[in-house]
Amino acid sequence: MKCLITGGAGFIGSHLAEALLKKGHSVTIIDNLSTGRLENIEHLKGKDNFTYYIDTIMNKTLMTELVEKCDIVYHLAAAVGVKYIIDHPLESILTNVGGTEIVLSLAHEYGNKKVLLASTSEVYGKDRPGKRIFHEEDDRVLGPTSIVRWSYSCTKAIDEFLSIAYFKEKNLPVIIVRFFNTCGEKQTGRYGMVVPRFAKQAIAGEPITIYGDGKQTRCFTDVSDSVRAVMMLAEEPTAVGEVFNIGNPHNKVTINALAKKIKKMTGSKSAIRHISYEKAYEKGFEDMRHREPDISKLQKFTDFEPAVTIDEMLAKVAKDIKRKK
Ligand code: UDP
Repeated sequence: MKCLITGGAGFIGSHLAEALLKKGHSVTIIDNLSTGRLENIEHLKGKDNFTYYIDTIMNKTLMTELVEKCDIVYHLAAAVGVKYIIDHPLESILTNVGGTEIVLSLAHEYGNKKVLLASTSEVYGKDRPGKRIFHEEDDRVLGPTSIVRWSYSCTKAIDEFLSIAYFKEKNLPVIIVRFFNTCGEKQTGRYGMVVPRFAKQAIAGEPITIYGDGKQTRCFTDVSDSVRAVMMLAEEPTAVGEVFNIGNPHNKVTINALAKKIKKMTGSKSAIRHISYEKAYEKGFEDMRHREPDISKLQKFTDFEPAVTIDEMLAKVAKDIKRKK
């Protein structure tokens, strides 16, 4: 199969590229390196069946050529990371919505190619009292438009609406996946993601900075599990036109416990500090207290079972960050 991965030099995209190549597919990636990095694909360069383009998905001429030549598009290119979105509000909206429109319209125009759209658990918005587990059909609860964080949720929701509209009106075979806190080797903390940030701080002996009271919980999923789920869905004909959570409900942890785990695992002497959300992000910032994926739908459509425990995942991340030091 000829696979096109937009955002293929990004964290998840580069792992997906490697896994698809291993399965014997040919892989072309396009990435503008806004959050992706060339070093993520260094080991793939020169491999048979691997081609890369450093360009934006807004380059419609190039995208036309790439979409025309492929059998399936894994559309991962997007502005991601809470911090990145807050720092680049305009670019985030324009790329996330405009870029997806280009991908979907070309996929339709050039033979109704299958599109797998990467979305996010941010789509659900805030958690609500007594509700921690999110199912694909749940309502979305968002804050005001003055808080930039919510624009990310809205742009990805528009991407989902667009994909579903193309599926319903044009028969475009689309599959939508919502990633829940994916982590692993090659992830950078530069755009806000907590695990590489804590690991880097711990290894450098700097204070580990927890935002808020640290009692908020997340379920962290190793990228190898997320990529496996994506590939299973792409091969499952009945998944077309559907939305799926991808996550690991077994790896639930408070951010306080996460900090302690990382500190212990790296043998760090770092202090653990709490700082306010306002100081960390922006005035009026609201965090989700709890977020857990319901993956029963994914497991109904595929044989997916998450395999990597939180400790195994953290050990891999710490090793990766130490190696780069
Ligand atoms: N967080 C933290 N310190 C950091 C980065 C993040 O305490 O340096 C917290 C953040 O406020 C959130 C959780 O860790 O409660 C997960 O943050 P991340 O940005 O990784 O993912 P999110 O679940 O917010 O999308």
